Amino acid sequence: MAAQLEPLPGTSDLWEQELVDWVSLETCARETFSKYGYGELRTPVLERTKVFTRSLGDETDVVQKEMYTFEDRGGRSLTLRPEGTAGVIRAIANRGLATGEERRVFYMGPMFRGEKPAAGRKRQFHQIGVESVGKVSPWLDVECIAMLMRFLAELGIPNGRLLLNTRGLPEDRERVTAKLLEHFEPRLGELCADCQRRIQTNIWRILDCKEPGCQPATETAPRITDLLGPESQAFFETVCRGLEDLGIEFELSPRLVRGLDYYLHTVFEVVHEGLGAQDALAGGGRYAIAVPGSKNPIEGVGFAAGIERLLLARESLGVKAQSAAEADVYVISLGEAVLSSGLALAETLREAGLRVFAETTGRSLKAQMRAANRLGTRWALIRGDTEMAAGTVLCKNMTTSEQTGVPVGDVVPWITRPTCE
Ligand code: AMP
Repeated sequence: MAAQLEPLPGTSDLWEQELVDWVSLETCARETFSKYGYGELRTPVLERTKVFTRSLGDETDVVQKEMYTFEDRGGRSLTLRPEGTAGVIRAIANRGLATGEERRVFYMGPMFRGEKPAAGRKRQFHQIGVESVGKVSPWLDVECIAMLMRFLAELGIPNGRLLLNTRGLPEDRERVTAKLLEHFEPRLGELCADCQRRIQTNIWRILDCKEPGCQPATETAPRITDLLGPESQAFFETVCRGLEDLGIEFELSPRLVRGLDYYLHTVFEVVHEGLGAQDALAGGGRYAIAVPGSKNPIEGVGFAAGIERLLLARESLGVKAQSAAEADVYVISLGEAVLSSGLALAETLREAGLRVFAETTGRSLKAQMRAANRLGTRWALIRGDTEMAAGTVLCKNMTTSEQTGVPVGDVVPWITRPTCE
């Protein structure tokens, strides 16, 4: 029976302290991204399957193995979004984007991938992401990465390692692919089953395969950066120089290609040692995504960070989030007769902006005090027959344990007076 109450594998119920940490992280994201001119966008969790297959690439792991796709009652193929960028681009294209116009948006919310659940790897996970869409400039890539590093620092995670690479332009692709084929084909037998398939379908992905058996072949593979044309080289050099000028440390990571087909030019990832095997905190890059009805693809740069992993990284660093106090005041009512006026007092306190938990059963003083402690309230306002008769409230400061009888009309100014802050 109990197993039937558990959430599905790879999903979680979120509440109490964890949710408080979660919300503080979202607030930090909103504050940081708005400093760079980004505004929030919320797209549906459910999209037409084509939105993803068209953007991410038919041969990517996400599309091949991980999407939650089903037919609805009208026979349409729908998918729970596995990532945020494709939906954002669909929404922006739907509104229309003039040539040279730039849109800066951020999003946060659940994503769904049918992966094997593990520490830091879930089936419903949550991302905070940003996209700057419409303009092409290496300096935008620099600023986007700077914003990610600032966000992490603001969260108390200053020590993520920034890994950087480039995939160059589409016109470089044939040359790189040919060189990779030359390298990997004679080593086919050394590769894992996925990579043996990838050699035909998505050879670049072999480069960042994590299987230990594939490492000897990938470590000796030609570097993408050595094979790119002058335009791609110049773009990447500007990104590297821009980051250096801002004092942002990075490591060149020649085998980083990232999972999705839409990337070109800059790709990056931030990894954190506190995360164990799933060490990627955030990833992103520059991309071009084809949209129906538009001759040219839409270009942009962005990143997504996993909320669960940000919280794990903070925990590994001992960063304390604010406390989970759920109420400022507990209105303690001793006996049935006091309950009704206890609720009225609670309403008055809420009008004054306080978060109030009012007793509704009139149980023992001890039980009610225990409840107030559990909620972490700063005040317990106690009323029994004596206080009712005298028109007072016994105000107990839960930090100092001091108790003062206060006329009922003076309770709000008493508990909110500046000396009590
Ligand atoms: P991706 O879209 O795969 O580049 O992922 C971007 C970020 O989302 C990663 O760096 C992780 O922080 C997070 N992430 C991706 N997949 C999962 C997952 N299955 N569970 C938890 N977090 C994830």
